[in-house]
Amino acid sequence: MKCSGNNQRNRWKKCWNWQSERKRVIMDMHTDVVIAGTGVGGLFSALSLSRDRKIIMITKSDLESSDSFLAQGGICVLRNDDDYDSYFEDTMRAGHYENRKESVDIMIRSSQDIIHDLIGYGVEFQKAPEGEGDQDKADLLKGYAFTREGAHSRPRILFHEDITGKEITSKLLAQVKKLDNVDIYEYTTMTDIIEKDGRCRGILAEGPKGEKIRIHADHTIFASGGIGGRYRHSTNFPHLTGDAIEISKKHNIRLEHLDYVQIHPTTLYSEKPGRRFLISESVRGEGAVLLDKNMNRFVNELLPRDVVTKAINEQMEKDGTSHVWLSMKNIGNETIMKHFPNIYQHCLEEGYDVTKECIPVVPAQHYFMGGIWVDSDSRTSMENLFAVGETSCNGVHGANRLASNSLLESLVFAKRAARKIEEEYALEGKNRETFGGRERTA
Ligand SMILES: Cc1cc2nc3c(=O)[nH]c(=O)nc-3n(C[C@H](O)[C@H](O)[C@H](O)COP(=O)(O)OP(=O)(O)OC[C@H]3O[C@@H](n4cnc5c(N)ncnc54)[C@H](O)[C@@H]3O)c2cc1C
Repeated sequence: MKCSGNNQRNRWKKCWNWQSERKRVIMDMHTDVVIAGTGVGGLFSALSLSRDRKIIMITKSDLESSDSFLAQGGICVLRNDDDYDSYFEDTMRAGHYENRKESVDIMIRSSQDIIHDLIGYGVEFQKAPEGEGDQDKADLLKGYAFTREGAHSRPRILFHEDITGKEITSKLLAQVKKLDNVDIYEYTTMTDIIEKDGRCRGILAEGPKGEKIRIHADHTIFASGGIGGRYRHSTNFPHLTGDAIEISKKHNIRLEHLDYVQIHPTTLYSEKPGRRFLISESVRGEGAVLLDKNMNRFVNELLPRDVVTKAINEQMEKDGTSHVWLSMKNIGNETIMKHFPNIYQHCLEEGYDVTKECIPVVPAQHYFMGGIWVDSDSRTSMENLFAVGETSCNGVHGANRLASNSLLESLVFAKRAARKIEEEYALEGKNRETFGGRERTA
């Protein structure tokens, strides 16, 4: 289903209908930039490109089925210059010092600009009670509430209840839908790239009725998320199966750290098949504790994710159980209802009242730190091909992601991809002028 765009809409809609009637016929489309994926990485890339660019976005499922919509805990930001060293060190320590320092520095230093952009797009973050928050700051972060998650040495996470991802992604999506230069196609799956002379010239895709589509583009952005769909227990949407990574492998595009997969320590234990419900780390940041079968604590809950996961797995092994328990008693009912209404509601639907009882939790696949190698401008090893968000590996997360760094990282490096693409167009325009407008450089 095609969702947005005005002028081109009718023309392309005609093509689309024609295509639907004649299944499996190859249709050709031409655009400046094609983006595979409509999570925060894809949406922010589209918003950060010039309005003069013709952009096609595709998504394998519907527009709300991206992991970006699921993010609960929040998004990190550098609160002030004094926090730089500590934020940098927390990110590096969580990543086992395998992070690319340059990328970490870029992410942290760009964080306030990104939050500024988000607020400009209408994103609302939780405000601190009157008189609290960073009142000394005359700027952007004044008056906001900050939460903390595991491995953060201080609170530096902005949030919107426990549905921060939905708040951010739905607002970005609304902005993209307003753009005349962007057309979005749902249930359209990228199956390959068009490679010519070692450069990426667009993508091949399959429409909702099996139609084969060739989308020719000057620039391609992979924004197709993680790999959780390949796992039995994962917090990710099942259609996120690392397709861009598979395609990159086929075309000898450089990949990095494919074995760096993060397991989240606490998802709600269930016997049912399907996606596992995440119990955000900020629940533990606010005081929730992990308990063994005898209701004794067995780990410091605020250690990095991989350490807590290991401790839970060892405890389950020792106890001969398929889960451990999480108690939210220390948080207090008022904070639970205000900060974690979504978690409260979901657990209630599963038969657990978190204000009165412990819930069973188990580790599950959650995030992919590795992926398609990119430089600090999100360029892959193939010309004209960029990768952003979870499918890319710019080295920010090292061997293990610090909580609430991934939305920020996706946004920062999506914006940099867009800026680089615009630079390339500018350069091309200049060269074209030099050659009297007779030939294209790219
Ligand atoms: C339950 C949960 C909670 C989280 N909480 C937080 C948090 O609090 N803070 C934080 O920073 N991070 C959090 N994360 C991680 C964060 O949400 C993701 O890393 C981030 O949103 C990834 O964004 P993305 O744009 O790269 O991918 P996604 O948002 O997953 O989007 C991927 C897009 O690619 C499309 N796609 C996939 N394959 C194809 C294909 N072949 N063709 C076309 N389209 C395709 C999908 O349909 C989708 O539109 C959480 C993740 C989960 C699962």
